[in-house]
Amino acid sequence: MRDTKLQQVTILGATGTIGLNTLDVISQHAERFAVFALTANNNVKGMLALCAKHAPQYAVMLQEVSAIALNEQLKAIGSTTVVLHGEAALCEVSAHEQVDIVMAAIVGAAGLHPAMAAAHAGKRILLANKETLVMAGSLFMDAVKNGGATLLPIDSEHNAIFQVMPPQHLQHLADGGVRKIIITASGGPFRKCTEAELANVTLEQALKHPNWVMGAKITIDSASLMNKGLEVIEAHWLFNAKPSQIEVVVHPQSIIHSMVEYIDGSILAQLGNPDMRTPIAYGLGYPNRLASGVASLNLLEIAKLEFEAPDIKRFPCLQLAYDALKAGGTAATIVNAANEIAVELFLHKKISFNNIASLISSTLQAQKIELVSTLEQLVSVDEEARAFARGYATKHLTC
Ligand code: NAD
Ligand code: MG
Repeated sequence: MRDTKLQQVTILGATGTIGLNTLDVISQHAERFAVFALTANNNVKGMLALCAKHAPQYAVMLQEVSAIALNEQLKAIGSTTVVLHGEAALCEVSAHEQVDIVMAAIVGAAGLHPAMAAAHAGKRILLANKETLVMAGSLFMDAVKNGGATLLPIDSEHNAIFQVMPPQHLQHLADGGVRKIIITASGGPFRKCTEAELANVTLEQALKHPNWVMGAKITIDSASLMNKGLEVIEAHWLFNAKPSQIEVVVHPQSIIHSMVEYIDGSILAQLGNPDMRTPIAYGLGYPNRLASGVASLNLLEIAKLEFEAPDIKRFPCLQLAYDALKAGGTAATIVNAANEIAVELFLHKKISFNNIASLISSTLQAQKIELVSTLEQLVSVDEEARAFARGYATKHLTC
């Protein structure tokens, strides 16, 4: 019999950076949390090790062939974990009645449906998968509200903002006396590169983030500053903030994770070592604080905190995200889809770093922007934008 006092947690994207950090925090609090389900795309070896250690009730692989392999290997070690596969199963373990908390940490638009399922089922959602909000912000926020879910941002910037903004003012910035939200950006590995240098940067250089250890897609997004663009859109939906109320400031040390400025001139910031276990522990324990295993911040060692303006000429992806937010409707869905294709092509060395922004821009210009009505519509807008971006890259862009 399972202890009913334990909070049951589903981790979507368990084999990823956020998934592993979540399991690390959960392991430090075995008296509070139990792992209900773990999910992954196709990493059988990784899932086998996680299932052996955390004994979830369910393990879900996206691919059937991976599920068959995992099931065989789990049976061989006497595990009772039930193995499922496919998107419907991802949604099932997100909405299951026994689940209290869903960590949404799948990368990309693939995380949308399971996150929506958790929202409709009224779960506590720890949202790392920012693409859900970029692709379908209005529908997801509606689902959270109508499903009675609790949404806690895990992205470090939004988690920081959440921590320094009274919860009753989250969707009513003016009532809370908020003047603006200031999102910090590390600037990525190419912060000091000239335009000419950016044309020749390599994949290996782009994958070396100065401050954070993260999955490949978000690491490339950080290098292009599209990650910051996606986070501006994310902040718009989470905090009901207008584009003019969201400012991006480059802060190379990544110690201040973001700030909120109030009308009286106060700026509240959240600081800490760049370690995702802090926002994850905050989400798991909310409204209480949990130990996370993150080292104490040594301010004397850090000594100075610097700030500079982002350069949208060298990093046009940030501007493209603002443009999409201002355009509204399906524009952000298109930008997200084009960016996912651009990053995939860059990761496969099919296009150059600067091509990422041109591919997104060309896709946004070519696709019709519509008012958002249904999830099915957004899925087809996403598919069309991906198809266009792939075609455009094949025809016009080469490494
Ligand atoms: P990652 O690449 O390390 O892990 C991604 C996880 O998603 C893996 O478990 C993978 O198996 C699973 N996955 C991939 N494609 C899938 C698919 N099609 N269907 C089902 N599962 C799939 O990524 P990450 O760095 O952990 O990031 C996860 C999400 O969290 C992203 O949206 C990212 O933007 C966001 N995020 C990450 C960080 C960070 O520090 N890593 C910080 C803030 C936000
Ligand atoms: Mg972030």
